[in-house]
Amino acid sequence: MKSKKIKTEYHTEVINGVLHMECRRCGQMTPCSPTSTSVLCSECVRELYEKDFPFEASTGYKPTGRPRGWAFMREYIDKDGNVYHKGKEQPELKGTLKPTVIKSKPQKPKLTKAQKQRVKLDAYAEIHKLKKELKKAKFKKDVRRINSLIKKQQKLTK
Ligand SMILES: [Zn+2]
Repeated sequence: MKSKKIKTEYHTEVINGVLHMECRRCGQMTPCSPTSTSVLCSECVRELYEKDFPFEASTGYKPTGRPRGWAFMREYIDKDGNVYHKGKEQPELKGTLKPTVIKSKPQKPKLTKAQKQRVKLDAYAEIHKLKKELKKAKFKKDVRRINSLIKKQQKLTK
């Protein structure tokens, strides 16, 4: 059986019997597994960690331009096309995917006084209707359902 050698663009070397590869960020020889295609040395890992988790780092806040929780997302692609799976960089996917667009929640438009009044009136009308229904309801489950609907509407009248 032929052993498959994993191709890598990084320099590898066996030092003291341990396979090392140059750090893809700073070029420092770093121990790695024979299946690694690229490695980051511990210093770069720490530096990147501090950059990405500024609140946990002691150096204070440094904005990353990434949304909150990006490191926990199944897939996150930053504006430069760097692809991350759960915060882990996937260098071989760089530039193959569109940057992740984070949609911010649309803010609820504030209701005007007249609109609020309208909502209230609608709720009162609905309660009136539901109460009539309640009188006719024969089954416990219907009574329960109608009562919960009434409660919902009553909240709107406050
Ligand atoms: Zn490094």
